[in-house]
Amino acid sequence: MKVLKFGGTSVGSAERMESVAKLVNHPGHKIVVLSAMSGTTDQLVKIAEAFLEQLPEKAFPLIKELETKYKATIDKLFKSKEYKKKGEEVLAEHFELLRSFKPNVFTRKEERIILAEGELLSTTLFHYYLEEQEIPAVLFPALSFMRINEDGEPDHDYIEEHLKKELEKYPHAELFITQGYICRNSFGQVDNLKRGGSDYTASLIGAVLDAEEIQIWTDIDGMHNSDPRYVPDTFPIAKLSFDEASELAYFGAKILHPSCIRPAQKRNVPVRLLNTMQPDAPGTLISQDASDDDIKAVAAKDNITVIKIKSTQMLMAYGFMRSVFEVFERYKTPIDMVATSEVSISLTIDDTTHLEDIMKELKKYGTVSVDMDQIIICVVGDFLAHKPGCAFRIFETLKEIPITMISYGGSKINISVIINGIYKKAALMALSKGLFPKVKATANK
Ligand code: ASP
Ligand code: MG
Repeated sequence: MKVLKFGGTSVGSAERMESVAKLVNHPGHKIVVLSAMSGTTDQLVKIAEAFLEQLPEKAFPLIKELETKYKATIDKLFKSKEYKKKGEEVLAEHFELLRSFKPNVFTRKEERIILAEGELLSTTLFHYYLEEQEIPAVLFPALSFMRINEDGEPDHDYIEEHLKKELEKYPHAELFITQGYICRNSFGQVDNLKRGGSDYTASLIGAVLDAEEIQIWTDIDGMHNSDPRYVPDTFPIAKLSFDEASELAYFGAKILHPSCIRPAQKRNVPVRLLNTMQPDAPGTLISQDASDDDIKAVAAKDNITVIKIKSTQMLMAYGFMRSVFEVFERYKTPIDMVATSEVSISLTIDDTTHLEDIMKELKKYGTVSVDMDQIIICVVGDFLAHKPGCAFRIFETLKEIPITMISYGGSKINISVIINGIYKKAALMALSKGLFPKVKATANK
């Protein structure tokens, strides 16, 4: 059994949906996970915000705009009168729901119901399209098995039990369609796996079913060695280990949801990144084994805040670090990078929701300073100690860039530095030129 996930652009128009139908219409057991059509979730976010602000006069034109786009899509997608009518009925039902919300009783709970509409629409329309093309498929609801617990983490046992129950209802079916991103929370309410969460859905399904492979279909031919928005001539990496792919996804590679590798890795299910526009391209294979190349890729994560805590009383004392880290734990704020000296700690965070409170508490332990708008540049590869020279190569290429923090040795696959955000392009260009001179995609196959 394979799990195939198609992202927003892959189902972003009638033509794109038709291509997806061709890609999945082959023998073999498959679960197809769909995102919302591109632009839909963004628009739903705006609609929900307008309701939250108690501005229905702002929400209604946004709903109308989205509906017009969907009307044009179904008109192109369905060929027969019968199915055009079915499509219209689907839209009527979903857009009626969107219009039924009342601003005075609108909370985050209603917001999450609105956000779920994109995936419900894309899967229902796609399923009707398959039906019209006489391609047998079963549409089954993610809301009946995908669940998160009180901490917002997927409830693996629940997912496994309920997903299997759902599939057992159709012992002869080969092709299944379900929604990415959406789930229920521990109260049974409609919720989601955060933006970009369809990848996570696919990986969770693949893991609990011990799938043969999880395929993430997008509009780029795999994970690239650097960010193509900043660097020309990037190329897809043929093979990555689970750890390398996780680091790259977490540190800025937009192609994958950062949590998506973990479930697949736990059950050792390979993940393949493929391109809907170029289905024959090899893409990127993420699995237990990696290729031997020492330096594989560079990613950058924006909007990093660096916090420095300096304490003179703590010279030679113990317990300082624990006290500092406990502050972050109390505010559920993850720390990305740490550098320490005898009397000070520098660390970085991404989520600044509780920054003010954190600062107040940290001041009990010493002098605290904060630098906003920093970035982490993360170089991923195989930096085993017996291969000298990697760190030298990286820092040599960055010789013109002021570096504020360095992390090396925390793991054998990652060397990270912190620089001011204004140097992002310069740093990525320098690294690309210095680390991947004229390497071609084939070089690491
Ligand atoms: N539709 C959701 C989003 O735009 C989930 C996804 O596409 O993965 O974030
Ligand atoms: Mg995505």
